[in-house]
Amino acid sequence: TNGISSSRYPRFFDRCFSSPASGSNLIRATLFPGDGIGPEIAESVKQVFRAADVPIEWEEHFVGKEVDPRTQSFLTWESLESVRRNKVGLKGPMATPIGKGHRSLNLTLRKELNLYANVRPCYSLPGYKTKYDDVDLITIRENTEGEYSGLEHQVVRGVVESLKIITRQASLRVAEYAFHYAKAHGRERVSAIHKANIMQKTDGLFLKCCREVAEKYPEIVYEEVVIDNCCMMLVKNPSLFDVLVMPNLYGDIISDLCAGLIGGLGLTPSCNIGEGGIALAEAVHGSAPDIAGKNLANPTALLLSSVSMLRHLDLHDKADRIQDAVLNTIAEGKYRTGDLGGKATTTDFTKAICDHL
Ligand code: NAD
Repeated sequence: TNGISSSRYPRFFDRCFSSPASGSNLIRATLFPGDGIGPEIAESVKQVFRAADVPIEWEEHFVGKEVDPRTQSFLTWESLESVRRNKVGLKGPMATPIGKGHRSLNLTLRKELNLYANVRPCYSLPGYKTKYDDVDLITIRENTEGEYSGLEHQVVRGVVESLKIITRQASLRVAEYAFHYAKAHGRERVSAIHKANIMQKTDGLFLKCCREVAEKYPEIVYEEVVIDNCCMMLVKNPSLFDVLVMPNLYGDIISDLCAGLIGGLGLTPSCNIGEGGIALAEAVHGSAPDIAGKNLANPTALLLSSVSMLRHLDLHDKADRIQDAVLNTIAEGKYRTGDLGGKATTTDFTKAICDHL
């Protein structure tokens, strides 16, 4: 193996919530191939799972052609029911039109399924050189409110207003998750990222909740860092941080910055954690319309997300095998996709991973 411990793309909860399909040993999981490059990279995951003999039966759901009144979006009610039932799933990126149109599919999923924390691990990949070789960060993003509450309106002509909502309940919940995660994974430090000097009420409440939770975890170092300073520190020396917890928008931005430290968005996985034990894994990146349909996308981020999903289901042997095959293929360097400076297509790269299993 490449020496990466299996805890690197870790499970997200201490419990597993496998749901065997009746009459078989297969575990049912929901799959949203998504938009843009989504179907191409989802196909890659399906192929690798088949080659590794992973006992998963996918329940595939596509975005609907018209608005479903029950979800007020193009997501079908049946697809949400599928995640609620299976409790575990994998999601491709979903496009959102800029500045107009229907409710964002991602926001709908997060709200309807109460996916309250988004966990975004980011590690330097062995054998793939960037400015740093010691990045080892976990961004934990509050996923249901903040600037993404969807409350925007025009006050008068030429003036619009967007409301940032921070609640004690959601802040405590995500802070609790971050500390619990840090403890469970032997992490030493949790940094709360904020702009409470300006947003005194909203980010102030977020910090207050983090402090409250920090008191319950005396073994973990707790610190507070202003978001702009955090960006500078991350770019200068990412090893200053360990686990970072923050409101929604900051998490969105910081995790892309972190992806940039290790080689780009093609590499960083994530998982949405919901109430009732739901885990919906997805890549950090979006639908990449600039390369969609061209067989150019890097499926690593979605594959590593699926590895975390397997760990969540306690399928560690399969998770290790796939993780090693992905990382060894990248380290070897013969088959890399264009974002990593290579010439391999998505299908070449996927085949190389299957050959490394
Ligand atoms: P993006 O992440 O789709 O792309 C940014 C850049 O990274 C592009 O140059 C793209 O080609 C590249 N890239 C991303 N993933 C890659 C991969 N796997 N392999 C190789 N290159 C990759 O961001 P964007 O262009 O700002 O957003 C496009 C759409 O995706 C928008 O509609 C946005 O709302 C949506 N989006 C969805 C999610 C999600 O579903 N969770 C997340 C972010 C953006």
